[in-house]
Amino acid sequence: MSASISQKPASILPAFADSPAAAHLQVGGLTRFSASDYPGKLAAVVFVQGCPWRCHYCHNPHLQARACANSGAPDWAGVMDFLQHRRSLLDAVVFSGGEPTIDPALPDAIAQVRALGFGVGLHSAGIYPQRLAAVLPLVDWVGLDYKAPLARLTALTGAKSSAGRVLDSVKALLLSGKPYEVRASIDPHWHSPDDLNAMLCELKELGVRHLTLQQCRDASGQPTSADFTNALFSGSEAMACSVLPPALAGGFASFSLRPA
Ligand code: SF4
Repeated sequence: MSASISQKPASILPAFADSPAAAHLQVGGLTRFSASDYPGKLAAVVFVQGCPWRCHYCHNPHLQARACANSGAPDWAGVMDFLQHRRSLLDAVVFSGGEPTIDPALPDAIAQVRALGFGVGLHSAGIYPQRLAAVLPLVDWVGLDYKAPLARLTALTGAKSSAGRVLDSVKALLLSGKPYEVRASIDPHWHSPDDLNAMLCELKELGVRHLTLQQCRDASGQPTSADFTNALFSGSEAMACSVLPPALAGGFASFSLRPA
């Protein structure tokens, strides 16, 4: 599939029609402190319940169903009560998932967090490009997943329209001008070195400038590893660049590694 940002993404107008109040946001979990989910910021992370994809390496399968099975998860009022008491201690709130744009209450939840004075980060797999485009003006930073070469994305996610959705999401993000990182999680049980190189080629062609490679964990929480991922994630970024074709690794304005 050809990758280009010359085309505009699809219309964003109906993306969040009749968006309900934040009280309806389906919260699947809350991380009260994180220094790793929004680069350079101390953040709380709100996990929004629900995701229509079924990625083979999903590390949050309990967040896939739209109904929350986590009896310990706070409701939105509980999240806001917590945040009221952290206003001087945290920089930002990150909405993650699952897929946070699945929830029509997301815009109001973002607005309420902003009203408390927090910055807002968003993690997305790019599943709903129109909804992503609609909330981009409301957020400060985005971490967007790029999970596989476009030709193999459906095999990973189980969803037929995955590639087109991710393409539209990348285009919308780049056109927005928002600070971002595109994140590629590499699982050697699923990705080959050729897959990784294909992903880097596609991202360069799209015009992505900020890339992070993340190491996956397996179901027991251990880092997944194989020769090429060991070389990537146990070494330095310079070593990673020597493992990857230099022209590709050198094609990004920022390129970082996130070991598991
Ligand atoms: S998009 Fe994310 S939350 Fe959804 S199945 Fe894939 S890895 Fe899991």
